[in-house]
Amino acid sequence: QENKKDVIWIDGKLVPREEANIPVLTHGLHYASAVFEGERAYNGVIFKSRQHSERLLNSGRQLDFEIPFTAEEIDAAKELVLKENGLVDAYIRPIAWRGAEALGVSAQKNSIHLAIAAWVWPSYFTREERMKGIRLAFARYRRPDPATAPSTAKAAALYSIATISKHEAERQGYSDALFLDWRGRVVECTGANIFFVKNGELHTPDPEGILNGITRQTVIELAKKRGIPVVERAILPEELSTFTESFVTGTAAEVTPVSEIGEHKFTPGEITTTLLNDYENLVQGK
Ligand code: PMP
Repeated sequence: QENKKDVIWIDGKLVPREEANIPVLTHGLHYASAVFEGERAYNGVIFKSRQHSERLLNSGRQLDFEIPFTAEEIDAAKELVLKENGLVDAYIRPIAWRGAEALGVSAQKNSIHLAIAAWVWPSYFTREERMKGIRLAFARYRRPDPATAPSTAKAAALYSIATISKHEAERQGYSDALFLDWRGRVVECTGANIFFVKNGELHTPDPEGILNGITRQTVIELAKKRGIPVVERAILPEELSTFTESFVTGTAAEVTPVSEIGEHKFTPGEITTTLLNDYENLVQGK
């Protein structure tokens, strides 16, 4: 499946990708006054589109800006981008940022822009590869205290420590980095939430100070439907040896089993497999 056309929606207009450029003196580039989303369409349907649009608007507000489009308009724009690009199964990336009028830290009157792009982004792994599990290293940095940064927004600024940590993990042969938070609790990966299994129960960090992923919330609902007890709580790195299964969740990662975190080993088992299947069925509309 290839993009038939390659157009990006910017501020209400469809523009060929090579013309979809912004000025170098954009506030969003210099001071990370930018927020974004990551979404997937399956069989032409954007999974939880409205929830992603609302989260985008809310992330903007946390950065003290109001995106000049409603959730309805953003939903429609995403549909249009898929249609115009001839995409059915795709990853969708809306991004909003503060424009280039003034380049001081204060830029109260700068315009707020919104762009939406989409492209084919299949799973990184075949199902067989995925079931072997990915290996995680601990990140060098910690997720900041909500008193230090708007740590629950999907804000570009928060991803600088994610890229540094992920590069470091990849150079050591791991797939991703696992963050501790400012208190030293296990919280999330660079672009995914994390779950653990112990005695038939699902344990996951409470969402304070992290991105409470839409996939995370979906998987919690799916587990409850199956009668699997879900415990949201503080999880310490010392406890990792007490868990038997682990997996990460995210729009891009979907449900991906974890085989190793540092010296701890996990084997994808029944609960991981069940939730991986349930999630796949749900997003595929089955
Ligand atoms: N945590 C972080 C830091 C992320 O970037 C993502 C991906 N958006 C997630 C968790 C998972 O969120 P979602 O399930 O909404 O994609």
